[in-house]
Amino acid sequence: MTCAPSLVDAHGRTIRYLRISVTDRCDLRCRYCMAESMTFLPRDRLLGLEEIAVIAERFVARGIDRIRLSGGEPLVRRDVGDLVRRLGRMVGHGLDELTMTTNATRLRLHAPALADAGIRRINVSLDSLDPGVFRHITRHGDVAQVLDGIAAAREAGLTVKINMVVLKGLNEDHVGDMLDWCGREGHDLSLIETMPMGAIDEDRTDRFVPLTHVFETLSARFALSRDTHRTGGPARYWRVGEHGNRLGLISPLTENFCGGCNRVRLTTEGKLYLCLGHDDHVDLKEALRTGGIAALDDALDRALPMKPAAHDFRIEAGSAPAVARHMSVTGG
Ligand code: SAM
Ligand code: SF4
Repeated sequence: MTCAPSLVDAHGRTIRYLRISVTDRCDLRCRYCMAESMTFLPRDRLLGLEEIAVIAERFVARGIDRIRLSGGEPLVRRDVGDLVRRLGRMVGHGLDELTMTTNATRLRLHAPALADAGIRRINVSLDSLDPGVFRHITRHGDVAQVLDGIAAAREAGLTVKINMVVLKGLNEDHVGDMLDWCGREGHDLSLIETMPMGAIDEDRTDRFVPLTHVFETLSARFALSRDTHRTGGPARYWRVGEHGNRLGLISPLTENFCGGCNRVRLTTEGKLYLCLGHDDHVDLKEALRTGGIAALDDALDRALPMKPAAHDFRIEAGSAPAVARHMSVTGG
């Protein structure tokens, strides 16, 4: 049997992790993520479910062993359950792990099916436990619905990690209470610096909080010890002595960990981006539609040398975002 060649970039990094944005649409409008009047792609430009599955299967044949479904909000795509079931069949057969990042508004409905399909862990975005602050950040979200979604996930046997983007003047003073709540509920917590991706209604600089500052404050309240857990992503981890859960810091602006990056990202339109912070990409939809698997393989081989050594994110007052596309297009 011939084995498809694995994906190694020009910097010697083996690519093992694929994020797929299954839709750029969302039922929320988080202020740091998108403008209130965000326009979405016309449906006829999106990859079909079968195309996503074929591309994902080819990635797995070429050595990808982790796939995360994201968006936009993945659970607003009507056929997402079918996709999860199809991709779930690869778990244990080339794929070590299938995961999802969700805002949890529809998790009560979907959690049992996600668990049945082979998903074991999900990330849920929750930027505040305070109903008013949560509503303000998401523009119209209901925190009770998210907490109910998280409860449903736990009932279905899923492990939940919470993602929190730290925002000056909005939720920066809630981080300690969030870490405490996560500890009591048995969730790990990842804190994220707001990244300059896509135009929003305000200047992100005004909301940017360096996680180094947040970490100092948390260290005064919690016994934090360094944890060596690494995922090939940009997070560094600490163990929280009081509860035993893990704290992750994703701080691409203040600390750059691109050297070990093993991930690539497929947009809902079929474009493969090699880095969150760069525009270089190849069009896998076009390749698949015109030349099938052989053309897909060629496109992947053309893409690899485009993976940059590091992103170019900088937060500077009044400057345009580093990349014009939103996180919801590339799948955060
Ligand atoms: N809708 C789902 C959710 O919110 O979990 C999945 C997609 S969302 C784009 C994925 C993650 O990216 C979320 O944790 C969100 O908070 C984060 N995110 C979105 N825009 C961001 C930005 N500009 N900077 C940093 N994180 C961002
Ligand atoms: Fe939607 Fe997630 Fe972006 Fe919030 S962060 S607007 S939930 S895609």
